[in-house]
Amino acid sequence: MSDCLFCKIIDGEIPSNKIYEDDKVLCFHDVNPQAPVHCLLIPKKHIASIDDVKEEDGELLSYIMLKIKEIAGKLGLDNGYRVVINCKEDGFQTVPHLHLHILGKRKMAWPPG
Ligand code: AMP
Ligand code: ZN
Repeated sequence: MSDCLFCKIIDGEIPSNKIYEDDKVLCFHDVNPQAPVHCLLIPKKHIASIDDVKEEDGELLSYIMLKIKEIAGKLGLDNGYRVVINCKEDGFQTVPHLHLHILGKRKMAWPPG
């Protein structure tokens, strides 16, 4: 979607500090971290919120869920982490492109920066 902030990040129009990327998802550092480790995992497909997920997105959602532990492992979050999805106005969602916050206590060893 042309006026979506996270779609612009996906397209490289807006820079991000990337942690992981493949053809389906992108994970990057949150610009305003609320924990020592705070990144956002997003689908490359524009889905406005968890409330806008359709039956046909089931495979993508399951893919995202499996990517969480892979990314958490890379970030050294061996002792656990939080995963948060805010949904629409009352859920304090500010960017209308589905994203999972991954929050952890440990400073990451990888990647640098
Ligand atoms: P939410 O409130 O769940 O919609 O979360 C949106 C998140 O996106 C917030 O934690 C912001 O700090 C983060 N954010 C906004 N703009 C950017 C950006 N350009 N790069 C990285 N994170 C961003
Ligand atoms: Zn988008």
